[in-house]
Amino acid sequence: MAIEPKISINGILHDKSDAKISVYDHGLLYGDGVFEGMRSYSRRVFRLKRHIDRLYESAKAIWLEIPISRVEMMREVNRCLEANSHLEDAYIRLIVTRGAGSLGLDPRKTTHPQIIIITDSITLYPDEFYRHGLSIVTAGTIRNHPQALNPRIKSLNYLNNVLAKIEAIKAGCLEAVMMNHLGHVAECTGDNLFIVRRGTLHTPSIDSGILGGITREVVIELARGLGLDVVERTMDRHDLYTADECFLTGTAAELIPVVECDGRAIGSGTPGPITLDLLERFQHLVRQPHPEDEDALNSEPVGSTPSAT
Ligand SMILES: *Cc1c(COP(=O)(O)O)cnc(C)c1O
Repeated sequence: MAIEPKISINGILHDKSDAKISVYDHGLLYGDGVFEGMRSYSRRVFRLKRHIDRLYESAKAIWLEIPISRVEMMREVNRCLEANSHLEDAYIRLIVTRGAGSLGLDPRKTTHPQIIIITDSITLYPDEFYRHGLSIVTAGTIRNHPQALNPRIKSLNYLNNVLAKIEAIKAGCLEAVMMNHLGHVAECTGDNLFIVRRGTLHTPSIDSGILGGITREVVIELARGLGLDVVERTMDRHDLYTADECFLTGTAAELIPVVECDGRAIGSGTPGPITLDLLERFQHLVRQPHPEDEDALNSEPVGSTPSAT
């Protein structure tokens, strides 16, 4: 039988079956909160500081004050990971909700944010798709309008992405690509998108209304380091249909080839050479230590980490 993960709520570890929060929590009632998805490889969280920075940026954008410092949050994540030492490689979900309140929207009536850390495993797409590639469709549901809820915020409000995911499933696919409010390509439901055209990588720019993915950033850096050109720009469906190669990036997905879009084969209809090369290099990179994370963790003396209760 699988070992039950230990889940951290406000710095206190609980068994999975006992890890509970209030039904009055505004994270549940209104999707009022923010989150991060991270991965650890050989017990080290990949780009921990970048994830924590993005979490605090998302929180700032929604006027949510997280009651502990960034370094404390980094240590809390590591502490939870250590309590789950059965996980050699883990998927980590870090959630900060607005907290329990009244049944109205008013966030002043909430008590205090709930900080939840779940370490577990995740399989977003079965293994065979990493070898043979995914078929995707374009969704009718668009990504959030940036003037309504900026897609750069990793908020708990993912209903439009869920709707696009259902569209994909109804079409017999595992993933859908979402357009922005202008009809340009944005991203998939939980992954950023790249194409390869004549040896150059193209990906929708941040102002296309996408979540600024950390995997996306890492892959851009990796590709440029190999001497490949990477262009961040406005992209249309036509760019997808006529690409030589296509792939998606995200913490959960890592890097996965796409071989068909809306019934059109992409390139040869099999994962392309640049995609496969980047995938292999990415898998190597994630197991390397990162000085930025080490420095951040050592930047403040270890005190008694205050819990947020
Ligand atoms: C989290 C997420 C991604 C991927 O971001 P990473 O930092 O690479 O994990 C892409 N798109 C959406 C909508 C996301 O929520």
